[in-house]
Amino acid sequence: MPPRVGPATVQPAAPAPTGITYGTGYVNGVPRRIALAPIPNGKRMRSDAAAAFNRMHAAARAAGITLAPESGFRSMQEQEALWRAHRSGRGNLAARPGFSNHQGGIAVDINVNGWRSAQSRWLNQHAQEFGFRRTVPSEPWHWEYRP
Ligand SMILES: [Zn+2]
Repeated sequence: MPPRVGPATVQPAAPAPTGITYGTGYVNGVPRRIALAPIPNGKRMRSDAAAAFNRMHAAARAAGITLAPESGFRSMQEQEALWRAHRSGRGNLAARPGFSNHQGGIAVDINVNGWRSAQSRWLNQHAQEFGFRRTVPSEPWHWEYRP
């Protein structure tokens, strides 16, 4: 007797992890579909970077430090707006659209309250344990997931 096949033998697909969405990320100007996951403050990062950020956020919180993200993943429209503001002298340094690591989903701007704050000291001591590095010398708030 042949094995019975049909809908009853098909296992349902595993549900996606909570909060995963998909977006168009850019790395060095090249678009790619990336999975995004939530980090605090309603921001998102590429899912692996978000998982690492959320672990780091929890460790900081356990030490009494709040790491509040102010910017994570950016869409092309968001980066274009920041670029226009920068070019017209109204905004912070911003990378050319398509070339910001925020568009790749690996960069996060954290409200650190300056170079000597408790947040900055904690990040300088511990961020690397979670795969994060500060990559823009003039910006104490900008961290990238580069494990
Ligand atoms: Zn940044």
